[in-house]
Amino acid sequence: MDYKKLSELLFPNIEKTTEYYEALYPERNLPEGAKVTRLGPSPTGFIHLGNLYGAFVDERLAHQSEGVFFLRIEDTDDKRLVEGAEEIIINSLRFFGINFDEGVTSKGDIGAYGDYTQSHRGEIYQCFAKKLVEEGKAYPCFLTEEEINNIRNNQEEIKANPGIYGKWATSRNLTMEEIEEKLSKKLPYVVRLKSDGDLSKSDENIRRIKVKDAIRGVLDMPENDQDTVILKATGIPTYHFAHVVDDHLMRTTHVVRGAEWLPSLPIHVELFEKLGWQPPVYCHTAQLMKLDEEGNKRKLSKRKDPELSLDYYRNEGYHPKAVREYLLTILNSNFEEWRIANPDLDIEEFEFTTEKMSNSGALFDLNKLNDISKDVLLKISKEELYDFLKNWADEFRSEDENMVEILKDRAYLEKILDIGRKEAKPRKDHIYAKQMVENISYFFDSMFKIEDEMPKEAEADVKVILEKYLESYDHTDDQSQWFDKIRVIAEELGYAAKPKDFKKNPDMYKGHVGHVSTVIRIGLMGRQQSPDVWEIQQILGEAKVRERLSNFLK
Ligand code: GLU
Repeated sequence: MDYKKLSELLFPNIEKTTEYYEALYPERNLPEGAKVTRLGPSPTGFIHLGNLYGAFVDERLAHQSEGVFFLRIEDTDDKRLVEGAEEIIINSLRFFGINFDEGVTSKGDIGAYGDYTQSHRGEIYQCFAKKLVEEGKAYPCFLTEEEINNIRNNQEEIKANPGIYGKWATSRNLTMEEIEEKLSKKLPYVVRLKSDGDLSKSDENIRRIKVKDAIRGVLDMPENDQDTVILKATGIPTYHFAHVVDDHLMRTTHVVRGAEWLPSLPIHVELFEKLGWQPPVYCHTAQLMKLDEEGNKRKLSKRKDPELSLDYYRNEGYHPKAVREYLLTILNSNFEEWRIANPDLDIEEFEFTTEKMSNSGALFDLNKLNDISKDVLLKISKEELYDFLKNWADEFRSEDENMVEILKDRAYLEKILDIGRKEAKPRKDHIYAKQMVENISYFFDSMFKIEDEMPKEAEADVKVILEKYLESYDHTDDQSQWFDKIRVIAEELGYAAKPKDFKKNPDMYKGHVGHVSTVIRIGLMGRQQSPDVWEIQQILGEAKVRERLSNFLK
């Protein structure tokens, strides 16, 4: 077979050579050991935690090594495209502190290795497919869908492996005349890799490939034997071929991607071999899992788990620092230990490694995220927390009148946000914006409501307790003066001044001072649980304290 002629026949319009592209995209001039990574999302408009998890690895590997991290849009599957998806990807990742150095941006491409959108690179893929055909390593395949179905049925019958390979790959045997005839009839065809692999041998004779994965160690797998499609009938490349060509020409050193790509790794290895290129270091990340209600581990699912979508975290108002901190705890097993030893260092100082990544499923746990978030927010100043809430409200609660009231008085809100945070054992009230707003809502008249019931023990005395309290109230009292007065009221009305006295002799009292102060707490805040009442009163101001309690008595 004259493969040169065949390649000209299939790709008459491809004039550039592979050498041209090799020269156009030379080796990168980077410091020794610098890693080049990329994120290659399909622009479906849905960006999820798995993307962020992978992007985090890419970003850390590149930026820890003075390398480059770029964004490539993998849009060869036109069924999944969504308008404006690039923008969503870039903005969501930027929010979580993931920034690209190169690639697609909303203002066009940045970098010397573009175009960074696969659908614009047709000529490049065709050029390399042409080279493979010219070297007898790829061929046109004219099998129709029906013929492929028949092959599958025959394979099922004799329990052979499915797919187009070996003797099933009948288009391999077409003569030049047959191909010319089919082409002249404009019959559709795909271009397939002509695999050298053979899995029909007995197990011990099957050639195995060994690939070093930076997360999983050495992978030992049977070689590929499939004549995989590299160009579809439309001339558009498959993922397999596009990523091999792109990652070579863009000089990617590390490919971080999900474990779902592991089964097709032998195809990629063979493609790199056939093209005469060194493959990148693969890093196959673990699936994100969660514990379901029964305590079983299962994959996070788009349908069942809203927390899979990155929008979820933005809508709820998680602080990006908290999400980053949490991701590192599931990404690197030694991070938590490091954090305990270095409570005040920025996470950029932590040396992230692929070796410390789990390969058996990373467990995602919202409760753990919330716990981490509490610690992270504790370190964020009240000024910064105010700005964070404001930005969140501008973006996600712009129609919400309550947010206008909450944000109206900056100094007031900052005081509220700072309650109890300076103590030796600080309060950790804040988790995420939406929760914070609910938590502090009683400070604002438009949201204030009586949410809890009065304690049974003091139910009958609510009115008299509040009346006496209002009478004795002096806004300038310090905390102990203030509490002494409550003790006095308690005793006057037959409540124990100390909870332990009540416990000892429950029959002697109606209740204890705690029940009396809970009445005040509910009158002021509508809730049984809250930070220190005295401190809250200082922030509310005397007029508001009197107003709330008087209103309650009406
Ligand atoms: N476009 C692929 C995806 O969205 C990316 C896989 C890769 O990073 O190589 O799953």
